[in-house]
Amino acid sequence: MEFSRFGRKMTSNAGILSLMDDLGKALLSGGENMIMMGGGNPGVVPEFRETVQQRLRTICDDSRLFHQLTGVYGPLCGDHGFVEGLASLLNREHGWDVGPENICLTNGSQTAFFYLFNLFGGLYEDGLRKKICLPLAPEYIGYADLGLEEELFVTTRPRIEYLDDGMFKYRVDFDELAIGDDIGAICVSRPTNPTGNVVTDREVEKLSKLAEEKNIPLIIDSAYGLPFPCMVYTDARPLWNKNTIVCLSLSKLGLPAIRTGIVVADENVVKALGSMNAIMSLTPTSVGATLMREIVKSGEIGKISHDLIQPFYKRKMENALGAVREQFAGIPCRIHKPEGAMFLWLWFEDLPISSLELYERLKKRGVLVVSGHYFFPGLRSAWKHKDECLRVTYAQDDDAIRRGIAIIAEEVKKAYSTS
Ligand code: PLP
Repeated sequence: MEFSRFGRKMTSNAGILSLMDDLGKALLSGGENMIMMGGGNPGVVPEFRETVQQRLRTICDDSRLFHQLTGVYGPLCGDHGFVEGLASLLNREHGWDVGPENICLTNGSQTAFFYLFNLFGGLYEDGLRKKICLPLAPEYIGYADLGLEEELFVTTRPRIEYLDDGMFKYRVDFDELAIGDDIGAICVSRPTNPTGNVVTDREVEKLSKLAEEKNIPLIIDSAYGLPFPCMVYTDARPLWNKNTIVCLSLSKLGLPAIRTGIVVADENVVKALGSMNAIMSLTPTSVGATLMREIVKSGEIGKISHDLIQPFYKRKMENALGAVREQFAGIPCRIHKPEGAMFLWLWFEDLPISSLELYERLKKRGVLVVSGHYFFPGLRSAWKHKDECLRVTYAQDDDAIRRGIAIIAEEVKKAYSTS
């Protein structure tokens, strides 16, 4: 049977599909022995898991709550109690001027990005084709194939700021960033997957201003960020205004399987997302909302994020960073300043092999990472740097991460010495 253009687009790309497929296959063939430093699965924070298990028991023992969890199609924008509780929390604790009409739940924030990118990118009534501007590359690979139209994304190379201790930080190059009439929205992940970069408050303010001047939204992907799950290890403020769309998620708290994304946006955008929910899935899942409603209403989600999730990942980041410093002594390896999320981004300047080849060699040694070249959606110019980086996830067991980093160092050393 032949597939439509849409069908072919959704099934034959070389981006996230091949990556996820490869990760899945490697897991199957390597089984238990593979060191998993490739995927985006969160770690297990025992105290949080206990809180959620307890809450689930309470729901299961209460037929009214259990019915809400499993037995009804909820509202288009998600469970009212959760949405009201969240709006009041965002007002109370962060001064965001939002009400329930500014919040829409989706089946994972990934789905929200599909909605938003196609809401603001693509063909407009006046015949203009608009793109989504990613102001900073590298950026999340999961965006790359979300456009119904080809080549939906544009991006520019970042400025590289060289820091002490062999670290560096990508900065938005505002001199190169062109927001013309062909841009429908600006989007940035904060913290950034894959680099752990946290775009500074000043950069966010500048992006927000640029977006406002053009009357387009600034989309901030806060899947790892503020106000929750707060996997941020540097100073940063959460920003929202009527021109900004903040996308949150319950996934990285430790609940990726319940598929709950949260969009905070202007009322019109929320209405549009509600329509899209209705068309795509009738209503968003209410499992996450029912499970987390009281934890959000009471504000406990803020405490959990600050007191459990953030220290858990910060410690893991320090463990991974320590291992890199130890194992990579004498090897030309630069580390992106790890300011958030759960990734180290390693840059091997002038590496004689590509990062994809390095990934293959590491896979043979039982270590799964992700080649950096995937993370440049929208960057059309050639750039050697794209093939010199690796993304290393440090969310899993500390000892395994240390062993994995030792093996990466051995392979990198070999690659440099046999050139
Ligand atoms: N945004 C970023 C930066 C991510 O890394 C991910 C998942 O890994 C998502 C969004 C989507 O997450 P979810 O659909 O689980 O909310």
